[in-house]
Amino acid sequence: MMSAFAEVIRQKYALVRRQIDQAAQSVSRRPEDVHLVVVTKAQPVEVVQAAVAAGAQILGENYPEEAAVKIKALTQKDDLAWHMIGHLQSRKAGLIVEDFDVLESLDSLHLARKLERLLVEKERQLPVFLEVNVSGEQSKNGLAGWEESHWDRLIPEVEEIMLLQHLSVQGLMTMPPLFDDPELSRPFFARLHRLADFLSHRYGSQHFQELSMGTSMDFQTAVQEGATYVRVGTAIVGPRPAK
Ligand SMILES: *Cc1c(COP(=O)(O)O)cnc(C)c1O
Repeated sequence: MMSAFAEVIRQKYALVRRQIDQAAQSVSRRPEDVHLVVVTKAQPVEVVQAAVAAGAQILGENYPEEAAVKIKALTQKDDLAWHMIGHLQSRKAGLIVEDFDVLESLDSLHLARKLERLLVEKERQLPVFLEVNVSGEQSKNGLAGWEESHWDRLIPEVEEIMLLQHLSVQGLMTMPPLFDDPELSRPFFARLHRLADFLSHRYGSQHFQELSMGTSMDFQTAVQEGATYVRVGTAIVGPRPAK
């Protein structure tokens, strides 16, 4: 028998998935083009297991050491994909190369170079999304993408990252300012989409097809603006326990 909390997670997962599908259909997009990353940072293994039982196929984590324990606990599920979505200190890059399938939060050339060296040793490719700061908030990581007239200035850094042979750039990721009203996130999602178009035009769309944007607060708006990945935690697995 399913525990009560696992049953709640099952229902919330199904609801969020339905809301994603409806948001996609509202703008004539195909629901299957939008992937749901269930964010389980700061949640115990039991919560991850309940999310997987509910249908989760992609899990999002922010802290490499914490994630390593969960990934180990779920090794029998080899069809799961683990996405690193939090800021990664370069001294912890080794943990990502070891355990994760995708790094969504590649936010500097410095980190990219460190990863490349580790990936060469491991003889593995790592799919990455470039994290972009689309608001200009000081607290946000990522490439400086808030001033559209200055996008040309991003080119040297993006190009150097793209030349690293063991990193495979697949798209962009952002975390806009936190609003109570999801409509206020819309211009930031639209900006990330335009930046992907700008970079696709230059380098080919295969590198900038994926757009990871939208959280519990605003994932439907993000889907309407072109998200191919939404990162939803609280709305599915509930509030994060206090540390
Ligand atoms: C925590 C987190 C999320 C999920 O946030 P919720 O509000 O719980 O949905 C998404 N993206 C990033 C980068 C996060 O750190």
